[in-house]
Amino acid sequence: MDLEQLYLRLPTRLQNVVVSAQGYRIQRSRYGRAFEEQLAGYESRSNRDFEQVKAHRDQRLQAFVRHAVATVPYYRDLFARLRLKADDIRSLEDLGQLPVLTKQTVQEQVDRFRSETFASQSLQMHHTSGSTGAGLQFPVTLESQHEQWSVWWRYRRWHGLQRNEWCLYFGGRSVVPLSQRRPPYWRTNRPGRQLMFSAYHLSDQTIADYLVEMERSGARWIHGYPSVVAFVAEQALRRGVRLPVRWVTTGAESLLPHQKQIVKRAFGVEPIEHYGMAEGVANISQCPHGGLHVDEDYSAVEFLPAESGAARVIGTNFTNPAFPLLRYDVGDLATPSDDVCSCGRPGRLVECIDGRQEDCVITRSGCRLGRLDHIFKDCVRVREAQIRQDQPGHVTIWLVTAEGYGQADEEALEREILKRVGDDLTFEIAHVDSIPRTRSGKLRFVVSNLSAEAA
Ligand SMILES: [Zn+2]
Repeated sequence: MDLEQLYLRLPTRLQNVVVSAQGYRIQRSRYGRAFEEQLAGYESRSNRDFEQVKAHRDQRLQAFVRHAVATVPYYRDLFARLRLKADDIRSLEDLGQLPVLTKQTVQEQVDRFRSETFASQSLQMHHTSGSTGAGLQFPVTLESQHEQWSVWWRYRRWHGLQRNEWCLYFGGRSVVPLSQRRPPYWRTNRPGRQLMFSAYHLSDQTIADYLVEMERSGARWIHGYPSVVAFVAEQALRRGVRLPVRWVTTGAESLLPHQKQIVKRAFGVEPIEHYGMAEGVANISQCPHGGLHVDEDYSAVEFLPAESGAARVIGTNFTNPAFPLLRYDVGDLATPSDDVCSCGRPGRLVECIDGRQEDCVITRSGCRLGRLDHIFKDCVRVREAQIRQDQPGHVTIWLVTAEGYGQADEEALEREILKRVGDDLTFEIAHVDSIPRTRSGKLRFVVSNLSAEAA
């Protein structure tokens, strides 16, 4: 029996003790004095001008590339093959001399990306789930985790959110046994100040218990998967429950326009947008003025043109020397902007984060069509949606609708779809009771069953 099975057999009271013990351990390793020092450094750079922050970034980049070429087999060979020296890379612009690195290459040669200077026991393993099922496991240093949490807390603190704020957490972790049929569908992590709710048990039948507990807790911060938070928001709205929510933050899935709207209507605040990933090669944070700023002091981010008009996010991590990733293609799309934010914080802006590159469909003439999430922008009575494609030129749209959804909603949706896809793609709408999640509990927006050649 493994530890998780053991945990699930404990009585609720002891599960709370275990969750808190785990929370204590995480607090200790994640938020020590080293974290406070990093955070102070990051916050001071919010007030610098763009040129100063760029100089800081390029300086770290240079040192990091030298380290990678000296201690990582993959880069030693790559630079030799390209007849490049580490010192040829001195700035973000110089990175263009290197090829873009795909996740597949990293997966296939994962050991060759490890730096020879770190002993395994000093490192933790991180993993990414990958929506196509192919995950990646890689080592991270403790310092790199402090930096990651520093850049994440920097944007939260821009919005007035503090570390001691209690959080209503709706993530992917299974803290409540699946067989449990009665509340409480949550566990309490006291040191981490989290009320951890089970996303799995959430339904029309159980939501009332969740809302009562959320209200009782008095907590003002909700964090979770957008699809789960949107469901809670819609139910709160429908049942007339007003919660004293001041902050909503999301992670793991892309935040879709209709989810944003429902959260705003239910809680009176817009979700704070944020973009980041375990690999730490790019980070984008929304400021209180609404601008989406590239965190230029955290990694070196490039935007390369993509077919759909948006740009591919290509990132170079310089915080995790145990596993350097140079010009790594995250698989996501964003739309860069030339605007300058009125808040005065440094960093390039993006207009929007457009989700996964693979979140696109293929039209009859073979074009890739992305950014379909905007179709659902005004569909407040659509609870969940998924676009499914089994053959080029045709898609099926799965819809889970909310109460009150009617003919007028469907017609409005059809008009929006036609506006986006024209006559090069036929579609049908299928009403379903629920949409299956991936193994890690995520709701995928586009599921394509086309072969790689067709896609
Ligand atoms: Zn701003």
